[in-house]
Amino acid sequence: MRKRILITGGAGFLGSHLCDRLLAEDNEVICVDNFFTGNKSNIVHLLKHPYFELIRHDITFPLYVEVDEIYNLACPASPVHYQFDPVQTTKTSVIGAINMLGLAKRLKARILQASTSEVYGDPEIHPQPESYRGNVNPIGIRACYDEGKRCAETLFFDYNRQHKVDIKVMRIFNTYGSRMNPNDGRVVSNFIVQALKNEPITIYGDGNQSRSFCYVDDLIDGMIRLMNSRDGFTGPVNIGNPTEFTMLELAQQVIGLTGSSSRIIYQPLPQDDPLQRQPNIDLARQELNWQPTIQLEQGLSKTIDYFRGII
Ligand code: NAD
Ligand code: UDP
Ligand code: UDP
Repeated sequence: MRKRILITGGAGFLGSHLCDRLLAEDNEVICVDNFFTGNKSNIVHLLKHPYFELIRHDITFPLYVEVDEIYNLACPASPVHYQFDPVQTTKTSVIGAINMLGLAKRLKARILQASTSEVYGDPEIHPQPESYRGNVNPIGIRACYDEGKRCAETLFFDYNRQHKVDIKVMRIFNTYGSRMNPNDGRVVSNFIVQALKNEPITIYGDGNQSRSFCYVDDLIDGMIRLMNSRDGFTGPVNIGNPTEFTMLELAQQVIGLTGSSSRIIYQPLPQDDPLQRQPNIDLARQELNWQPTIQLEQGLSKTIDYFRGII
């Protein structure tokens, strides 16, 4: 039977891909977004779809709709954007989670939270398993996002214990692909846009900090598998691609794939920027039978094609 599914943050990068996938799988989708970082262009192709509905709404305010499942993705994800109005970022994670959990509780609906590898902060354990409790600076400039997401996880588990809400918590590691906002400030979109314009590629710090990037199609596949996982499996579960590389290597690869004449320039490293990050995905392999299938070069080529089309 066709399910009615609510996606908060549905006009954003990940949310819009999720809308596409769930509609393609014959569901009805209600997309809620306040367009803080999302864009109508990400979902404009869906506006005429008979089973797609768009609601302009800020999830820090109550929302009364009738749905079977909720994916809670609303929250700016790029440091530039989540630091622009840090109080609103915390409100979105915390008050937004309370409202969406209240909705799930009333409806007895399953709810998935888009949490983040940022709950591990600047990790002292590498790669990071779900059991690692993290190293977050609670008063730094990333805290509005990191602590907001940590508190949201607390609320999810307390609604589960106290009110028996059926929860799924997903810790998403860095993801890239089409529909990233070109002005987002995240590293993959910055480097590709800079390379395509033959402008200098901006490396923050010495470029030896590492990340592990997952292509969006793999990530969405993991998200849907988690939502449909067995009763009682709550997570948290890491979803990401364990292939780790430095920002300098990423810059060189983007220059190579675009054939750009850009040179590399170095800018100051932002405060509390994590030195390294790599998911341990044993739990996702075991519980969800999931692992990424698209490697960096292939994913970057697809993403470069997308940005060529919009620049
Ligand atoms: P995004 O900024 O493209 O999307 C977020 C969406 O939420 C936007 O459409 C924005 O307008 C909307 N939004 C923000 N505040 C809102 C509010 N108060 N009410 C309603 N809508 C609101 O970011 P994304 O990369 O698509 O990230 C989606 C989710 O996944 C976020 O929760 C993010 O924290 C999480 N995540 C993403 C990554 C990644 O690498 N992309 C990594 C870890 C976690
Ligand atoms: N809420 C909502 N939609 C609903 C049900 C609840 O937005 O369909 C909000 C409601 O505004 C409340 C929050 O979710 O502030 C938490 O709901 P809960 O029932 O847990 O708490 P209570 O209403 O008892 O404060
Ligand atoms: N970064 C960079 N140049 C840029 C943008 C980001 O060197 O133009 C670095 C940033 O300092 C961080 C890494 O790339 O070390 C990933 O940054 P992003 O904002 O994409 O994600 P996050 O830090 O949240 O993992």
